Amino acid sequence: MRPETDHVEEEVYECFECGRRTDSPGQCECGGELLHIGHSRDL
Ligand SMILES: [Zn+2]
Repeated sequence: MRPETDHVEEEVYECFECGRRTDSPGQCECGGELLHIGHSRDL
């Protein structure tokens, strides 16, 4: 099992404060802003 999935359409957002990654925009649990960093894997 690998941490990276075969799904490539998922967009990824990363917290500017703690570095947590999620697939939903908005605000992190720590209160930081989630920045869109593109897709989890391009091609
Ligand atoms: Zn955070």
